[in-house]
Amino acid sequence: MIFSKTLLDRCISCGYCLPACPTYAMTGDEASSPRGRISLMRALETGHLEDDDPTLAEQASFCLGCRACEPVCPAGVEYGNLLEEWRDHQWSGRRSPLPARLLMALVSRSWLVRAQGLVRRHARTVTSASGPSLMLGCVERGLFPRVSHAARKLAPGLSVPKRQGCCGALHAHNGDSGTGERMAKSLGDALPGTIVTTSGGCAAHLAAHVGRPRVRELSEYLVEHDHLPSGRLLVDGRVARVALQDSCHLRNGLGISRQPRELIRAVAEYVELPSAGACCGAAGTYSILRPRESGEILSVKIDEIEAAEVDFVVAVNPGCLRQLKTGLRKRGSRVRAVHLAELLVIVPR
Ligand code: SF4
Ligand code: SF4
Repeated sequence: MIFSKTLLDRCISCGYCLPACPTYAMTGDEASSPRGRISLMRALETGHLEDDDPTLAEQASFCLGCRACEPVCPAGVEYGNLLEEWRDHQWSGRRSPLPARLLMALVSRSWLVRAQGLVRRHARTVTSASGPSLMLGCVERGLFPRVSHAARKLAPGLSVPKRQGCCGALHAHNGDSGTGERMAKSLGDALPGTIVTTSGGCAAHLAAHVGRPRVRELSEYLVEHDHLPSGRLLVDGRVARVALQDSCHLRNGLGISRQPRELIRAVAEYVELPSAGACCGAAGTYSILRPRESGEILSVKIDEIEAAEVDFVVAVNPGCLRQLKTGLRKRGSRVRAVHLAELLVIVPR
C-alpha cells in the first residue's frame, strides 16, 4: 500500500478543485489538476502505472503542494496528506531531488540550525522561565533573523528556549514524511506548551503532529491576546498602503487569513491583491526545483503588486518573503517585502 485507502477513496471526481489549482491554470491539462493527480495516484496504487512512469514523476514534482484544492473540495479530500504519501514513494531515498536532499541534510542537524543564530546576532536564542514559546525556525533564523527579534518585541511574554531544531516540514514535503513527523514531535518536546511561530508553513506542519491546540501562528497569537498595534504607519506623510501575500499552508491548511489582514488594517491602508490567497511560487523547495514555473507564477504576482501601488507587501512565511524580495529586486521595484512582524514593529507608538 502506497496510500491510505481512506484518503485515496474520498475523491468523488467532481472537479470543483480544478479552478483553484495554479498548475491546472498554467496548462489546462487534466493531469496537472488535483483530480488528475488523484487519478494518477490511483493508477499507481492499482499497478496500472509503473513506478517509473514519466507522467507520475512529472506531476509529483510539478504540483506546488499549495493545498488550494483542499478548502474548495466538497468531499474533504486531504490532498496535502496524499501528496506527502505520493512523494514518500516517488522520491524515496536517492530518488528525491538532490537540492532537496542537501537542504534536508542541513536542517536535520540541529547544531547547524542553531549555529545560524550564532552568526546572526539578532537570532541568538535566550531562555526564560516558562509560558508560550517562540519557535525560531531554520530558514528564518539564517535568512531573516530580524523577524524573531520583531516577534519578541511584539509579544514580550514569549520565551525562547535554547536547543530548538527544525520542525521537519521540509522533509515532509520532499519525500520523507516519517522524518518530518519525528522532527515535529521532537520540537514539540523541546518547546513545551503553546508554540508560536512566524512561519505559516511550519505552523501547519507542527499542528498536524503536535496537535492544533498547541500551535499558534504569530498573527493568530497577537489577535487572540489583543496585542493589536495602535499607531499609524506613515510613508511620505500619508498612511502607508500595504498588501498581503497569504501563506498557502496557513490559509488552506489552518484556515488563517483574517488575522494578518486585521493587524495590517490596524496600522495602514490594506490593499487586497487579486491573487493574495494564491501561491507565490515559493512553495518550499519548488522555486529551486522548478525555477521556470516558479518564476512564471511570481511574475504575475509582481505585476499585481506593482499595479496596486503599495508601499509594502507583507509575508507570513519566510519562503514567501524570500520569493517576493527576489521578484521585486529583479523588477527594480520600489515596493518593500517585509514579514508581518517587521512591519508591525516599525509602526510608531
Ligand atoms: S479532490 Fe475534491 S473537489 Fe477535487 S475532484 Fe476530488 S472530490 Fe472533487
Ligand atoms: S496542491 Fe496546489 S498545485 Fe497541487 S494539485 Fe492542489 S491546488 Fe494544484
